[in-house]
Amino acid sequence: MHVHNDLYIGGSWVPTTSTAVIEVVNPATEQVIATVPAASTGDADAAVRAARAAFTSWSQLAVDERVDYVERIAAAMAERAEEIAATVSAEQGMPMANARRVQAGLPITVMQSYVAIGRDHARAEPERVGHSVVVEEPIGVCTFITPWNYPLHQIVGKVAPALVAGCTMVLKPSSETPLNAFVLAEIIDSVGLPAGVFNLVTGAGRTVGEALCVHPDVDMISITGSTEAGARIAELGAPSIKRICQELGGKSANVILDGADLTKAVPAGIAGMMLNCGQTCTALTRMIVPRSRQDEVVDLAVTALGALSMGDPGSDDNFLGPLVSASQKRTVQDYIRLGIEEGARLVAGGPADPEGYDVGYYVQPTIFADVDNSMRIAQEEIFGPVLCIIPVDGEEEAITVANDSPYGLSGAVWADTDDHAVAVARRLQTGQVMVNGGRFNPLAPFGGYKTSGNGRELGRAGLDEFLETKAIQMPV
Ligand code: NAD
Repeated sequence: MHVHNDLYIGGSWVPTTSTAVIEVVNPATEQVIATVPAASTGDADAAVRAARAAFTSWSQLAVDERVDYVERIAAAMAERAEEIAATVSAEQGMPMANARRVQAGLPITVMQSYVAIGRDHARAEPERVGHSVVVEEPIGVCTFITPWNYPLHQIVGKVAPALVAGCTMVLKPSSETPLNAFVLAEIIDSVGLPAGVFNLVTGAGRTVGEALCVHPDVDMISITGSTEAGARIAELGAPSIKRICQELGGKSANVILDGADLTKAVPAGIAGMMLNCGQTCTALTRMIVPRSRQDEVVDLAVTALGALSMGDPGSDDNFLGPLVSASQKRTVQDYIRLGIEEGARLVAGGPADPEGYDVGYYVQPTIFADVDNSMRIAQEEIFGPVLCIIPVDGEEEAITVANDSPYGLSGAVWADTDDHAVAVARRLQTGQVMVNGGRFNPLAPFGGYKTSGNGRELGRAGLDEFLETKAIQMPV
């Protein structure tokens, strides 16, 4: 068992002032695999003060020199890729084959992407507007609050652009999956990032998280998490007018139109939805299909689900692992029971524990058909392997149902032609749409409409979040 006693503050590993610890549980074995500090609000204050003290010199360093650090961090992450994948797999439950690609590969790609973006930013000439010169400057000290489902990706999506911009930061990772953040802090320490630029404090959202959100020395808060936590954090930051960037929940629609190739659309929809056992903010959890073809869709969906093997996350052969925690498992199984009570037709899975899994937070991947979009299973984010197939009559109804959601994070459209799919995609109220199988792009702006959030991460748009704009009026 790995015991972390220290926090990373002001460029050193320092003991927490708290005696409390957070136990990190492997969701496949239910064993405690590590402890990390449940830090005090005093630790949070020390971390913000360290970030504030580092801000002037870091923000004034040439952009290219800051980007050099990002390049070194990306290289060190790549060297430790297998360890990162194994760390996240052990604390979060994603099986190794996917963890290598997504939990390690994706954050490395994103960190690397900010090298090129940063070099472009370094070369950019300030805009001229009449007699004004418009310059971009780092916003200041940032608090980062992150979740457990793609933990390092969500951290890097904030840390990388903030470093390029010239911001300093305090990270409070999820208490379920803090271990990957310690690996990142070790890497940052090993490349000699100036003291105080990056600080790591672990602890509960309600205490340490809130202390980091109300702190007068913090200029910006970026949270990835639930819509409830995002709303609370906006309240906490409002009195001191902090910039708030929120990447929150989703209930995304996969609109499959009559002319689409079902043999492609349905298996792709199942694989995407079931990745990470549905614990994905962008998961396409509502499959909206022509009523006349629902039976075909159900057959294809059940077959595709049957091909996904579940089991030990340590094995390279499994696609589905356990859910992240006992409480997440309870929540998901309660939703499956609710779907049955609401009158949806269960066509795969169910609320019982899967056979042969006495240990580990495994649930049966589940598909409901004949779901009405007004049901709670279609409106609320379940955050587990539960798909709702919603039959509709015609394209207009498909679009109306897709948009009938409090969320607007992602979506997909499958149609006879790309032009047709794009025309429908333009009518969806959501931050991303994949058409006819278009893949996730780590350089494209990522974020939500409606209660899915404010602001954008990744690519150049992700860097803009960390910049203030200053107009310098020249004499004429
Ligand atoms: P969560 O909201 O419970 O926790 C997220 C983080 O917020 C944790 O670090 C937690 O400690 C912290 N937190 C909670 N309450 C807080 C408070 N009052 N003050 C300060 N910090 C607080 O979410 P989770 O269960 O870790 O993650 C799952 C949720 O995240 C889902 O709703 C999912 O959709 C969302 N998510 C969104 C995206 C996105 O990019 N839009 C990505 C991944 C996950």
